[in-house]
Amino acid sequence: MQVCCGKSVFGGIAIGKICVFSKKEKQIKRIKIENPEKEIERYADATQKASEQLAGLYEKALKEVGEANAAIFEIHQMMLEDEDYTDSVKNIITSQKVNAEYAIGVTADNFANMFSAMEDDYMRARAADVKDISERLLSILEGNGMDMLEADEPVIILADDLAPSETVQMDKDNILSFVTVHGSVNSHTAILARTMSIPALVSTRLELSEELNGRNAIVDGFEGILYLDPDEAIMQKMQQRKSEEDEKKKLLLDLKGKEDVTLDGHKLMLYANIGNAKDLALVLKNDANGIGLFRSEFIYLESKDYPTENEQFQIYKSVAETMAGKRVIIRTLDIGADKKVDYFSLEPEENPALGYRAIRICLTQTDIFKTQLRAILRASVYGNIAIMYPMITSVGEVRQIKQIMEEVKKELDEQQIAYGEVMQGIMVETPAAVMVSDELAREVDFFSIGTNDLTQYTLAIDRQNPKLDAFYDAHHPAVLKMIRMVVENAHKAGIWAGICGELGADTELTQEFLDMGVDELSVSPGRVLPIRKIVRETDLAKYREKKNNILQRGVTSC
Ligand code: PEP
Ligand code: MG
Repeated sequence: MQVCCGKSVFGGIAIGKICVFSKKEKQIKRIKIENPEKEIERYADATQKASEQLAGLYEKALKEVGEANAAIFEIHQMMLEDEDYTDSVKNIITSQKVNAEYAIGVTADNFANMFSAMEDDYMRARAADVKDISERLLSILEGNGMDMLEADEPVIILADDLAPSETVQMDKDNILSFVTVHGSVNSHTAILARTMSIPALVSTRLELSEELNGRNAIVDGFEGILYLDPDEAIMQKMQQRKSEEDEKKKLLLDLKGKEDVTLDGHKLMLYANIGNAKDLALVLKNDANGIGLFRSEFIYLESKDYPTENEQFQIYKSVAETMAGKRVIIRTLDIGADKKVDYFSLEPEENPALGYRAIRICLTQTDIFKTQLRAILRASVYGNIAIMYPMITSVGEVRQIKQIMEEVKKELDEQQIAYGEVMQGIMVETPAAVMVSDELAREVDFFSIGTNDLTQYTLAIDRQNPKLDAFYDAHHPAVLKMIRMVVENAHKAGIWAGICGELGADTELTQEFLDMGVDELSVSPGRVLPIRKIVRETDLAKYREKKNNILQRGVTSC
């Protein structure tokens, strides 16, 4: 097996046979001519023909890769007519009394060298475009077509370099991947590969030769690796990765834009968890219907000092705007325990998980809490924002929070600063909150169950201690019973209850959560679509019937 590294242009795995795309070396002869005008006419005719071909390619690309990517062929048309380029060709023909082919070859080299020497990455990548239009002109003058790929089954293309026109002219059904020895990640060929979602590598360290034709290979577009003659172990690993990716792609295609509803009409709010605004791209890509947990403490963790009201406001505003009216639940500061922030100068503690953390800090350092509440309230004008409070253990805490919230609103009113309506909820992540959830439900607008901490506190297992992993039973009946109890108490008080801890993403429990009446699941973005799939395939009435039968059989056999 041979391993060759390159630069990844598009992720994905391709497994198949190699086809080496070699271009016939064009031998450009310098021929003395008598009649420069006639030669310039030949050049003008070739330019005209090239322009017509490019117009055809534009139409083809428009259909296959969209307007933005097809634009390269319009740019090629413009380059053909570029005055500097045309003047150079004509000048060489007349001053040196040489053939058009030679004049084009020299001009192409000069312009490509000039672009290659430029600072700007984008301009450097244009060297390939000049060569591409010049090749086209030469092929027309020589009466040959452009080099075409000859393959009758899907193959991995290995090439020294590929021009955009070569890429777009290839039959997509026969291409598994592009791998080039040269080329930049900014080239249009790279852009086209990305748009066509074809795994591709450029600048690959590889000795290109005809004898590679037909050999087995794997392109790992995630890691930027080409495996030649892969061994059994790599083949198995990559096949597994590929089927996972294929499954994900299928899910994406099938499930994007679909409702989160069971076959018998039970709806679920399927949201995503984020740590900062950068995660939003994944939220949109995976089609979550809202943000169920924005861990705002990451703003504090990423800062060198307390983030100001304005800094926080800008972040919350941009998240709310990006989510465009979909609900964004911002959890207030949850530092302490494993999330340490130097500038808070928190004293070391014997039992940090049971210590001075989260809402306990906010209720004792109210200036920090009020700054965050002001920022969130101000941002609520720009979208659908809700707030939730972590580590709640009592009704008294919630009343204190509501009191502080009223003070903040009053201050904003006095300063004539606008804010919107925000729902207020709490995280249910302590056994105490579970046990008084009937009372808490009368105080707030929603519950979100934090199963990570709830499991830690219920099972008395430090979630940070890897030695206890074997004892950590995520499906422990105590935790599952607590979830059911919280949901029931929420519904009795007419509010909704969701889960934002990791257990919410456990697809083995999705149907069980639906059975419990869980209204919302907030999970990492990549888990949204697998859960949507299960929800949409579930008939809740049938699931309940099956479960009852099993329970009854268990009772009779006892
Ligand atoms: C939880 O405890 O389940 C939770 C979602 O919060 P975190 O993991 O941030 O403590
Ligand atoms: Mg927690």
